[in-house]
Amino acid sequence: MCLYPDGNGFDLKQALARRFGVEMSQITLGNGSNDVLEVIARCFVDSDSEVVFSQYAFAVYPLVTQAIGARGVAVPAKDWGGHDLDAMADAVTERTKLVFVANPNNPTGTVHTADAIEAFLDRIPEQVLVVLDEAYCEYLVGDEYPDGIRLLDKYPNLIVCRTFSKAWGGLAALRVGYSISSPAIADILNRVRQPFNVDTVALAAATAVLEDEAYLQKSREVNEAGLQQLAEGFDRMGGLSYIPSAGNFIAVEVGEPAAGIYQPCWHMA
Ligand SMILES: *Cc1c(COP(=O)(O)O)cnc(C)c1O
Repeated sequence: MCLYPDGNGFDLKQALARRFGVEMSQITLGNGSNDVLEVIARCFVDSDSEVVFSQYAFAVYPLVTQAIGARGVAVPAKDWGGHDLDAMADAVTERTKLVFVANPNNPTGTVHTADAIEAFLDRIPEQVLVVLDEAYCEYLVGDEYPDGIRLLDKYPNLIVCRTFSKAWGGLAALRVGYSISSPAIADILNRVRQPFNVDTVALAAATAVLEDEAYLQKSREVNEAGLQQLAEGFDRMGGLSYIPSAGNFIAVEVGEPAAGIYQPCWHMA
């Protein structure tokens, strides 16, 4: 076949730009947002730098940091294992190039308000990049929705990452994610990413689903019902404690080493 994917992802970028009221030049597409997170680290972090993230956060942050040979600074969590944003701001030094914040967070399902995120960003020096990873943001609605995209004008050092793998149900296997940032940052990311990092089928599916508000709403409802079912189950099983989740998963205290519980479940699947 002589037909490569559209290396600029024009249709999808145009749809995203319209939806969020940003310029196409602010968007970087990735083979899942995992790809974008890795490209960000490769562009802006070297082996002399430090990268700050929370103790319990997305596993990819320490992995991309290690792959570059940079020093990862894992800041102890607080309140249900969520990010301690003040302590994370305190952990920034003159060597820090990048801070990863997942909001909502994986694996705790905890979420910070828009005010808390803004207060945090106010404390970060402008030469330090902040990646606000909003992989689960579409599960939140109304006032509880701390939309990072609205903060981009105020904070040029901010990069917001999102994905089609979570609330846009079923697209995880197609691998499409994106970041929205200043055009200057996006320009660098787009030079370094692989030229055809998102394939034709994935581009078409993501562009189509973005117009399908009913599908997103259905995905939210199914997720909400699932979370409730799990919470009721935990209550019935003698009140296992769990962290109220803003994501599509729930962290539960099983009261014994979790591997023993996990293994049989896995074999049943
Ligand atoms: C799932 C997840 C991602 C990455 O998802 P992709 O499938 O690579 O788009 C990024 N960040 C967090 C916090 C996640 O949970």
